[in-house]
Amino acid sequence: MEDRLATLRKIILSKNLDGILISSVPNVGVLSGFTGDSSMLVVTSDAQMLVTDFRFVEQAERECSDWTIVRRDTGFYKTLAGVLSDAGVRRLGFESAHLTHAQHERLSSAAAGVTLTPLLDTVERLRETKTDEEVAHIEAALRIQETALREVMTWVRPGMTEKRVASELDHRMRLNGAEASAFETIVAAGERASLPHAQPTERVISQGDALLIDWGARRFFFNSDLTRMLHFGSVSAEFRKVYEVVAEAQTRAMDVVRPGATFAEVDAAAREHIRRAGYGERFGHALGHGVGREVHESPVVGEGNEDRLAPGMVFTVEPGIYIPTWGGVRIEDMVLVADNGVRVLSDFEKNLDALVL
Ligand code: ZN
Ligand code: ZN
Repeated sequence: MEDRLATLRKIILSKNLDGILISSVPNVGVLSGFTGDSSMLVVTSDAQMLVTDFRFVEQAERECSDWTIVRRDTGFYKTLAGVLSDAGVRRLGFESAHLTHAQHERLSSAAAGVTLTPLLDTVERLRETKTDEEVAHIEAALRIQETALREVMTWVRPGMTEKRVASELDHRMRLNGAEASAFETIVAAGERASLPHAQPTERVISQGDALLIDWGARRFFFNSDLTRMLHFGSVSAEFRKVYEVVAEAQTRAMDVVRPGATFAEVDAAAREHIRRAGYGERFGHALGHGVGREVHESPVVGEGNEDRLAPGMVFTVEPGIYIPTWGGVRIEDMVLVADNGVRVLSDFEKNLDALVL
């Protein structure tokens, strides 16, 4: 957190600002350690304030010992204007992707003398590189979700609905220590797996179905995200072929992960393999995404992202092939960019025969 604040202060100077207003809840949380909401941060070159209301004052004092906690009085923006005035802020950066138009107008009228400058993805970029503690939180979430699916694999059987399986998995993650599911669990049987973001339905699982499960846990406010295919009964030659293409695409992408490679190169390693196997049109999404305080966060691991990987970045590698009316295969794991290559953070079998129930 110290490093991120120091970097943020360099950005304040380089953009000729006096301070930055942070209004996004996850950005507030990652910079300050605060786990509540309805609060904003003001960071200047020599001060850092968290503006909150009476519900969160005690919690903020406990979680953010390095911050000056300011309790709002009559109105939030009036209080904020007082903070800016006391800190001598005349030129303020704000998060243009997060401050609503209505909030911007209220701030403008409350702090009439302050010039507001839009900033995009500033804290999001700082969050791409995780601290050791954050990586440990993500690993804790992974262990929880992996245990939960292993338990579900001993229980699930044909005749159950997608919804029933999803709710059992959610419950098992809670029992194993998750604060919540990281996102709405996806369970898609048979032909429904052609929808990359299928919502669980009353569709009953039959013998012979493949089952796509995309699930994740949240622990210490950090998230995890994996996808596995389970299979009931004998596997068709076509399913096995598609599965092996996706698995090989994932391996090839992971082989490219190291500091200095571009995200586009990682994506291309998987995409080229799928294209050469004849399924190029069936892989329509980016290869992966950052995961941390939010389950989908910067960076995008996809075509066109020429940014370079750096040690400490955590993201998913999730190639897929989706064939309407037939079904789909996605395999998703989470990786950490290590000093000399890749460290796979997830630990769940993906050999197809081990996933046949
Ligand atoms: Zn996922
Ligand atoms: Zn994902």
